[in-house]
Amino acid sequence: AALKRAEEAEPVINSYVTLDEKDALFQADEIQKKIDAGELTGPLAGVPVAVKDNMCIKGQLTTCSSKILSNFKPTYTAEAVENLKKAGMVILGKTNMDEFAMGSTTETSWYGPTKNPHNTNHVPGGSSGGSCAAVAAGECFAALGSDTGGSIRQPSSYCGVVGMKPTYGTVSRYGLIAYGSSLDQIGSVAKDVSDCAALLEAVASHDRKDSTSIVREDLNFTEALVNNVKGLRIGIPGDYLGDGLDPEVKEAVLNAAEVLKSQGASVELFDLGLVKYAIPAYYTIAAAEASSNLERFDGVKYGYRTAEYEGLHNMYKKTRSEGFGAEVKRRIMLGSFVLSSGYYDAYYLKALRTKALIKKAFDAAFEKYDIILGPVAPTTAPELGSSLSDPMKMYLGDIYTISVNLAGLPGMSVPVGKDSRGLPIGMQLIGDAFAEKTLIRAAYTYE
Ligand code: GLN
Repeated sequence: AALKRAEEAEPVINSYVTLDEKDALFQADEIQKKIDAGELTGPLAGVPVAVKDNMCIKGQLTTCSSKILSNFKPTYTAEAVENLKKAGMVILGKTNMDEFAMGSTTETSWYGPTKNPHNTNHVPGGSSGGSCAAVAAGECFAALGSDTGGSIRQPSSYCGVVGMKPTYGTVSRYGLIAYGSSLDQIGSVAKDVSDCAALLEAVASHDRKDSTSIVREDLNFTEALVNNVKGLRIGIPGDYLGDGLDPEVKEAVLNAAEVLKSQGASVELFDLGLVKYAIPAYYTIAAAEASSNLERFDGVKYGYRTAEYEGLHNMYKKTRSEGFGAEVKRRIMLGSFVLSSGYYDAYYLKALRTKALIKKAFDAAFEKYDIILGPVAPTTAPELGSSLSDPMKMYLGDIYTISVNLAGLPGMSVPVGKDSRGLPIGMQLIGDAFAEKTLIRAAYTYE
């Protein structure tokens, strides 16, 4: 059914970079045999899932939606994908994304933009736009995304699906092609809260191959699927409701808070503080890490190499000039600048200090509240073509999501309605470190 739906939808939606129907049907047959033999008994056995194209699968194209990796077939598989296989899921294909996960619209992809299934003149959000659009269009039943600064939550909100980024270190980053390593985290996208929790439970694991992976004994996220928010303390940051927030988004999010209140939660406005520093701190740190992480793409070790060159340096230069798109180049230049001698203290160190202060502001908030509730993004999905010309405007759209990555916290996007144009609106639930279950319980009760 998912393949049939993809066949109809793909010519317009463009959720997938790679979709191998034959391979998917082969996997499904093999899994069915194991189910019949009683070797696979889990609830996700046989469920078709899609994977963002920045996660390695051995022998299969893994492009990060970039020309520079357009012929790259990894020699190993990401741990998160191994976990999908252990659960017996059918991996349908690799989904479109902003190039190297840099962007908020899936328009920086070398494979062309993905369209929003709710209105194909609009973007699906990004950078995990392919994963979220695929779920929303019924082209798979769930998908993996990655979230460095909102890239699961924001497209989930724009596409009307449920998306969750867990606490940093919960899902292994082994085999996830790095963007901002201290911020990157894999998470789940699904049609509803139960599926989202089940998928996250399947992919979360401790992994020695990722030095930032955490040992946790509370990964049974589906146990939090209970209808009960009595006594839950919810705080809404007043500083998330100010200038720039679309009134329709504000209304829908505040209505959702009222629903949780009517179900027994307490809801209160408070000042989180430091919100205006989140964007400069995030873009400094993310670009710095990106400039370092992307040094490895030089035409020697992986992927694309320019056709003609004179000497090694000219080969590097031409390969990278031709292989990377404009947004990626902008980040590499910005990141190299903030890490360069003389500017390191003024920009990069300052951003790291700001990150520590933002974490402190969240720590203070979680002494009073169990959940911070707010919008995911200031608006619903913009029209295709309206964001790329103004990167500053695009960066400002990340205001509510990026501080969650800076602080390493879990965050979730849950659909709460539609605007007058029929475009989905999401609310964001933010929890203290390791409080995924509290978020899942609130989201499930709301839903
Ligand atoms: N818009 C953010 C950026 O471009 C989102 C990145 C992400 O989460 N991958 O950096």
